[in-house]
Amino acid sequence: MVLGKNIDNDDELKMKRVEVPAANELIGKKFEVLDHGFVALVDYMGSDSSIVQAARVSYGAGTKSVNDDKGLIRYLMRHEHTTPFEMVEFKFLARMPIFVARQWVRHRTASINEYSARYSILKDDFYVPSVDALQAQSTLNRQGREYGRLSPEAKLEYINDIKVLSENAYTVYKKLIDGGVARELARMVLPVNIYTEWYWKSNLHNIFHFLTLRLDPHAQWETRQYAARIGDIVKVVAPIAYGAFEDFTLNSIKLSSKEQAAIKSILNGSSIEAACASSKLLLRKEDGKPVKSGEGPEFLAKLERIKGNKISES
Ligand SMILES: Cc1cc2nc3c(=O)[nH]c(=O)nc-3n(C[C@H](O)[C@H](O)[C@H](O)COP(=O)(O)OP(=O)(O)OC[C@H]3O[C@@H](n4cnc5c(N)ncnc54)[C@H](O)[C@@H]3O)c2cc1C
Repeated sequence: MVLGKNIDNDDELKMKRVEVPAANELIGKKFEVLDHGFVALVDYMGSDSSIVQAARVSYGAGTKSVNDDKGLIRYLMRHEHTTPFEMVEFKFLARMPIFVARQWVRHRTASINEYSARYSILKDDFYVPSVDALQAQSTLNRQGREYGRLSPEAKLEYINDIKVLSENAYTVYKKLIDGGVARELARMVLPVNIYTEWYWKSNLHNIFHFLTLRLDPHAQWETRQYAARIGDIVKVVAPIAYGAFEDFTLNSIKLSSKEQAAIKSILNGSSIEAACASSKLLLRKEDGKPVKSGEGPEFLAKLERIKGNKISES
């Protein structure tokens, strides 16, 4: 039986399988996250060169305008020609608290297989925040935390409360299991800081979208820790694409038309306050008090980010 013909020279590059030695080194290694969690690369397919390989098929061999790989990848990222990035695939094994998994699972463009607590008994691993991670409710952002407002004594007391509650919940869980209650029911007494585990498979384009949302300072700190480790691994597999992603997406800043009008006024010599007023970016209430949130303060935050920005090496 003939399995396949030898490929000719023209097609050789189009069919070349790529490997990244540094990424091979990472496979199967656990990168610890939080107190009992981890992220590990199980497998990957492709690298920067697969992005180039795919793009060159779609542009045709004759295209000479973007002739170096880095330039081509940066061009694709800049112009949101995204499908070549879908040619790079990643499979991770990750272990995370259920409340992190609930945020993570919202990213629908991935394939997931999760540990089944109907099928198996959960381990007594619970996330207990460190003294640094345990912080007060933010007064500015309804979804965030604010550093420095809880006393060290209160923090230690709350951390102990979380430990005691987790242990008590696990004791009841074990009692129900040992008493013959179905695992699918017994698990309902467990809090969402218990750890779960899953395989998570996605491609580079969708992982970049995940990282854009979950590396953002507005994302929950615990979930950001997982995104950061995934970013570290992705960077090894496709460093040029990751650099372009940092440049054109992660560290880029979106400007509304009002914000552009304000920048134009600032460039023409207006003060920031006057530029915001003329562009209807509210900084003060009618009684003169500063507004704490909304488009005005967000614009000021963007200006601060721009001032602090460093040019990346990518
Ligand atoms: C800081 C932060 C706070 C959040 N707060 C909340 C919250 O309070 N409540 C809450 O419920 N969620 C919340 N989320 C989750 C958020 O709304 C998204 O569900 C999550 O970030 C996944 O994003 P996504 O849909 O773009 O990603 P994916 O599901 O990976 O989808 C990628 C892209 O595919 C397209 N797509 C996928 N499925 C569909 C579809 N069915 N229809 C149309 N287009 C589709 C969209 O363009 C989408 O952007 C929050 C997320 C973040 C980052």
